Amino acid sequence: MIFGFLKERRRKQLKARPFPNEWLKIIKRRVTFFARLSAVDQAELLDHIQVFLAEKRFEGCAGLEINDEIRVTIAAQACLLLLRRRTDYFPRLVTILVYPSTYLVDEQRPTEGPVWEEGRMSRLGETGRTMGSMVLAWDAVKTGAADPSDGKNVVLHEFAHQLDYENLAADGTPSLVTRRQQLAWREVMRTEFASLRAADETGIPTLLDTYGATNPAEFFAVSVEAFFERPIMFRARHPRLYSELQHYFQQDPVEFSAERTKIVNKML
Ligand SMILES: [Zn+2]
Repeated sequence: MIFGFLKERRRKQLKARPFPNEWLKIIKRRVTFFARLSAVDQAELLDHIQVFLAEKRFEGCAGLEINDEIRVTIAAQACLLLLRRRTDYFPRLVTILVYPSTYLVDEQRPTEGPVWEEGRMSRLGETGRTMGSMVLAWDAVKTGAADPSDGKNVVLHEFAHQLDYENLAADGTPSLVTRRQQLAWREVMRTEFASLRAADETGIPTLLDTYGATNPAEFFAVSVEAFFERPIMFRARHPRLYSELQHYFQQDPVEFSAERTKIVNKML
């Protein structure tokens, strides 16, 4: 209790600090979705970034030197998942390991599939010991931040796993407030996961990355990517899943969607 109180007070102090202008410049340059948020959401995001950067440790790997550009670009995207909710700032995460590129990570530790899943594999494979760390490739972080509507975002993906771990189980279900919410979530997820699996097996094109057919945890992570990056299509094709995510995140990404502009441009 005391610890919780001190933590809250410390976080309040961090948020009260003036936001460094250099950091804001980085966000405006690197993180495209920022300009589309409302002024209220922007202010809340900056507050979260202050707390996030004070509490999380970054470590450069394979010769990469950590700088503010890297820290702020990662933090801004991760904190999008915290907006408008009561949050404990990804409590399971202590250290973020950043490699210069996907290629180098591959070279360092051979792995099948997308590189960022390496972090997931080690966390899932060795619960406890490596639970507190995450691996990100800086080049993938940058491309993810630059295009907010291609449906791919490694930071959103990895931090969605962190939300999933908040209740200790990597099962595609984050901490949900009410029993009713849990039941609705499970029912929708089960149906949607089964239909993605079926589509994957038959080769039907899907909006959700078929990597999500791997297991419910991956299903949640790819759903979060699509929810924030392609919300208009998502809502049209998976209205119930969209509504569960909207309820959980307390956000409606259609409001700040870059996809809208893309669709309109195509029509013209
Ligand atoms: Zn994953």
